[in-house]
Amino acid sequence: MSNPTIAIVGSGPIGSTYARVLLEQVPSARVVMFEAGPQLTDVPGESVRNIADPAEKARAREMSQGPQAGEFRESLGIPAATVTEGMFTARQGTHLLDFGGTGSAHASSFPAAAAATNVGGQGAHWTCATPSPAFSEKIPFIADDEWDRLIEEAKQLLHVHSAAFADSKVGEAIRSLLDEEFGAELPAGYGVGTLPVAGDPQPDGSVRWAGADVVLGPLIDKDSPLATRFELRDLTLVRRVELDGKRVTGVTVQDLRTGEESFVAADLVVVAADAFRSPQLLWASGVRPAALGHYLTEHPVVISTVALDAEKMQRYATEEDLKAELARRAQNPADPVAAVNRIPFSEPEHPFSVQVMYTENTPFPMEPGTPYSENRWGYVNMGYGMRKHPRFEDAVTFDDNESDYRGFPNMTIDYALTEREEAEIAEATERLRRAGKALGVFVAEPRLMPNGSSLHYQGTMRMGETDDGTSVADPWSRVWGYQNLVVGGNALIPTATAMNPTLMSVAIAVRGARKVAGELGPRSE
Ligand code: FAD
Repeated sequence: MSNPTIAIVGSGPIGSTYARVLLEQVPSARVVMFEAGPQLTDVPGESVRNIADPAEKARAREMSQGPQAGEFRESLGIPAATVTEGMFTARQGTHLLDFGGTGSAHASSFPAAAAATNVGGQGAHWTCATPSPAFSEKIPFIADDEWDRLIEEAKQLLHVHSAAFADSKVGEAIRSLLDEEFGAELPAGYGVGTLPVAGDPQPDGSVRWAGADVVLGPLIDKDSPLATRFELRDLTLVRRVELDGKRVTGVTVQDLRTGEESFVAADLVVVAADAFRSPQLLWASGVRPAALGHYLTEHPVVISTVALDAEKMQRYATEEDLKAELARRAQNPADPVAAVNRIPFSEPEHPFSVQVMYTENTPFPMEPGTPYSENRWGYVNMGYGMRKHPRFEDAVTFDDNESDYRGFPNMTIDYALTEREEAEIAEATERLRRAGKALGVFVAEPRLMPNGSSLHYQGTMRMGETDDGTSVADPWSRVWGYQNLVVGGNALIPTATAMNPTLMSVAIAVRGARKVAGELGPRSE
């Protein structure tokens, strides 16, 4: 095909992967990326965690909050949402789907479901944890050797480092204590270790966190020839994917600054607009496979905060080590996370993904004078992620007779944990108690977070090996029955997983992008 135009919906890590791979592999292609939210940083898609100024950081987060973006939204002439009392509030930088105002989704069984609306998507706010899927988390119909190559490529795109903060002696002491407690129960290669994170370690010991910016790479480098074939339109909402029968012809977009709608012709459309808004857009466009929106999974999460015990820590680290750690941290007060450790998912020994983040302060205020409110050795925030086994009835569905705040068919989420998940949650809570005791004293007891808290929503556009009604996309992420309609994101993941899913979704996107690149035009190696 000569000079194909590719329209990408959504500017998060997945839309950005498609843009990068397609432009690198199809020398005649042009990519137009549409993003409903605003650009937050000079470098498009940069992590807001890299913003040093607290006021600027807070402003960038507020701008990302879609209907809950307050003054920013009003400045565009779009009414801001009202939130009813008693609702959960979303994590900074995100907005609840069920925010309680006019046009809000119905999600009482999945109340913490949230999204981010900004250039870079949730990838401007994420924690950057990038473990690889293992055992049954992997996709059964992709061969292991291909899968390993895809994961390596995804790691490069996201700038994954396995040993960030590995030189922290405090981090090492935490690992040693956890290893004493659990090491003998874990299989070789899946023991206590550092958590791979997406970001570039800096000479001062801090990390420049990765966002969609690093995935876009040369596409946003004005000196790169690739940049001339890439266009990013922020504050531009894709309203419909337009079709001629089973062939996509382009997208109808709305400029949110002016309200004007226009049609943009495209030879290929990639929908990577998150696990709720992608299926919603397909539904609104008349693309309605039976599995669309169904098989919703996430990770139930049990979290706690532990004050590190000086005596225990001093078995592995000295006062000098602590001083060095605090001095290093003082250089970068804007980014409170230091060492990040984990115990990965393994089967059958450890069907959980554990994250242990060392911080100087608790994530919640503690009354001065209360026990452990000023803990010299600091704290860890620990979370156990568990599996949710896919079921058709856990679903987001769309109502043609009720519009949401954007004028799309409104969403209802139905979701329930089963006995199988309850049993895994009980086991994980027990292990979290052991981990807490091994490290110190709980200042926040283990607690199960409300459904939707993981921010890792999967399954709503799952990929499958055959078109048997239980999947939306083929093994190369093309919507079944359409050659030129591709979907991307965590929604494609068909398995029950415990790990953070973005690396896996980038790997799936690399595979999908390569396939369509081969169909669109010659490769440039
Ligand atoms: P998104 O990043 O959600 O981007 C989708 C974009 O599409 C959004 O910007 C949205 O505005 C846009 N969009 C939606 N509808 C339209 C439309 N109709 N027209 C135009 N644009 C549209 N994952 C991990 O793996 N590890 C972690 O440690 C981790 N931590 C997280 C911490 C936080 C606080 C958050 C919020 C998320 C975290 N995640 C983590 C999840 C991770 O950020 C997502 O997996 C990832 O961003 C998904 O990428 P995406 O491109 O599929 O979607």
